[in-house]
Amino acid sequence: MKKTYQGSCHCGAVRFEADLDLAKGTFKCNCSICFKTRAWLAPVAASDFRLLSGEESLADYQFNRRVLHHRFCRTCGVRPFSQGDGQLAVRVNCLDGVDSQELIDAPVKYFNMRHDDVKSPPAETRHL
Ligand SMILES: [Zn+2]
Repeated sequence: MKKTYQGSCHCGAVRFEADLDLAKGTFKCNCSICFKTRAWLAPVAASDFRLLSGEESLADYQFNRRVLHHRFCRTCGVRPFSQGDGQLAVRVNCLDGVDSQELIDAPVKYFNMRHDDVKSPPAETRHL
């Protein structure tokens, strides 16, 4: 069942709200940006996401095909969410006040985007 979560960057300039169901799944990916920033994401429908504050604090990083906008706080550097092409994903680790058990129980799906393979997970995931 969807719940409304509050989320933020580290300094608190960027705050958001998202309606999502962690039990429906989260994901990690082995692509270059996810690997370097240790991304742990949960998909959110654009209509279920509300930026409450900090639009002016959010910088944007794009690379490669420039489809996704990897937003990050100019002050603290934390990346609360990425968006693009009708997709949006929040960083699970940016959700505030989530019970640890809820995070432990959240299923994690792995994507092998380092090899442009959306169909099968990477052979090894322990380091992600
Ligand atoms: Zn910040």
